[in-house]
Amino acid sequence: MTLNQRLLLLATLTLAMLACDPKKPVDPAGAAAPPYVIATTTMITDMAQTLAGEDLRVEGIMKPGGDPHLHKPSIGNARATGVSDLVLTNGLYLEGWLDELVRNAGGERPVKVVSDGVTPVTMEGMPGGVDPHFWFEIESWKIATGNVEDAFVALLPDKADGIRARSNAYEAELDRLDAWTRTNLETIPEKQRVLITSHDAFNYFGRAYGIEVVGIQGSSTEQEASQRDVANTIELVRSRSVPAIFIESSVNPALIEQVARETGVKALGPLFSDSIGTAGSGAETYVAMYAKNVEIITKGLGGVFTPFPARGKAAVTSAPVEAVPTEAAPEAAAPNSPATETK
Ligand SMILES: [Zn+2]
Repeated sequence: MTLNQRLLLLATLTLAMLACDPKKPVDPAGAAAPPYVIATTTMITDMAQTLAGEDLRVEGIMKPGGDPHLHKPSIGNARATGVSDLVLTNGLYLEGWLDELVRNAGGERPVKVVSDGVTPVTMEGMPGGVDPHFWFEIESWKIATGNVEDAFVALLPDKADGIRARSNAYEAELDRLDAWTRTNLETIPEKQRVLITSHDAFNYFGRAYGIEVVGIQGSSTEQEASQRDVANTIELVRSRSVPAIFIESSVNPALIEQVARETGVKALGPLFSDSIGTAGSGAETYVAMYAKNVEIITKGLGGVFTPFPARGKAAVTSAPVEAVPTEAAPEAAAPNSPATETK
């Protein structure tokens, strides 16, 4: 074998080895892109991104602060859907526009309805006779988390361990949020456990925690409230001595403000109902949005509010370990210490 023949053989073998090993692409452009997932509501997008980590790319169709009942899919939404590997939807008839979007995106897409397995609250006059706002019942949101977890593992079996670990951590955080919510709401005097809002976004929340929920204009923001509905709400506020009623981030506050004017009670909020908050709102994730709502409701209805303890801390009232005197750790006070760095 000549030197040239030997070099050629070596090169051929090297190429063959590279081709056989999917973890070593010949060039970066040949690397497999992570699966591309489209989610409809901002709550699903936030949860799915948490479960995805670096293993999948998740983008939302809706933007924070938007109203999913009135969403009009854009050309960009259709384009993104057309190249997606998976579409995550709320279901329960929330996304009436979804079939058209998928059609415009070129036909069949793999769709996972995250509310599969949830027991819906029935509601007359709503599409399908069900209330779509199931995300406010944490037990139901955990079912949705499990659905997303399974869909991701099916798409990416090699990454199952990481996906399942992130899902378990997220569910543990949801359990903590649930227990904390219950503790806060139980401080509200029983007679005042009435949550009056613009539209019926909180029926699942009420079902979970034993709070009576009244939405002036029904479950969908598409419906118009009649003056009779407004009059009934005014009557309820007076008969129950309700201390406050609530406006919502994605719904016109006019009706709530009208009731507040006529009864003299405070209109508080906004509660985050159908979307997580925009940047700077303090409600930029599902968990933060939920905690913010619980704070507004507990304080507004006359309860005793305790802040949600940061992850890994038993309770906010316990002495924080980091607050030990600084002379024990002088480097913590250095100006270029990572602890004092701001983003
Ligand atoms: Zn809604």
